[in-house]
Amino acid sequence: MYMYIWILKFAKQGGFIVKLKVLYNSDARVPGLKTGWGVSFLIDEKLLFDTGEGPEGLLHNIRELGVDILKIERIIISHDHWDHTGGLWELLRLNPKVAVYACRGFSEEFQMKVKDAGARLIFAQPWEAVAPGFILTGEMECVYKGKKLYEQSLIVETSQGLHLITGCPHPGIKRIVEKVQVQFQHQPVVSMLGGFHLINESKNVIEDLAHHFQAQKIQRVGPTHCSGKAAQQIFQKAYPTNLITLYVGEEVQLTP
Ligand SMILES: [Zn+2]
Ligand SMILES: [Zn+2]
Repeated sequence: MYMYIWILKFAKQGGFIVKLKVLYNSDARVPGLKTGWGVSFLIDEKLLFDTGEGPEGLLHNIRELGVDILKIERIIISHDHWDHTGGLWELLRLNPKVAVYACRGFSEEFQMKVKDAGARLIFAQPWEAVAPGFILTGEMECVYKGKKLYEQSLIVETSQGLHLITGCPHPGIKRIVEKVQVQFQHQPVVSMLGGFHLINESKNVIEDLAHHFQAQKIQRVGPTHCSGKAAQQIFQKAYPTNLITLYVGEEVQLTP
């Protein structure tokens, strides 16, 4: 039995306990787990958000962490980049009875591969609940390396507020938060975790953003993946007791 650091969460959500487990990311604190580029988060055993850079590390961690692939019912892919879709195809081979939530703007190749695997391909509408309390933003468009790119983010709605989970996020983390805040005017965003995509931003920009999120009363943040080292240090300073770490194998408690 491995000694997992079960930091994750017990977010009260309509009487249920919501747990988010990190299946793949760039860092681990438990020997024997694989790390690399890209993220994969398992929420409540049934919902997977992104699939990391490839099958090998992800499947290894799934086995080590005792995750039952057949229990996964829904896979949300934030955007059609290799470090978020890499483990998907092997997962679909092992469990094709899943619904894959994609954006209409994902490549034809992606869409064909999901269908060929025998899985259901679903394009969520903006603010569609994929399951009670799990809401997708709908696709947001942006330009990445001269091409249009579409990305969606996940909201976990709890009695304490909203928890935002992001992939890279190429449309801009600030823009995504603002979109959620406009939609849910009476429910605060209390935490956000995932990639913040600040890897190419200056210290000043990141510091302003950290202050902006503090002013918005976002209580906990978990910058990882493409957030970059500078962002991790700056957010650590801004949220000294409320930083969410996302090491592979961890469970995170999302409640404030
Ligand atoms: Zn990306
Ligand atoms: Zn990424």
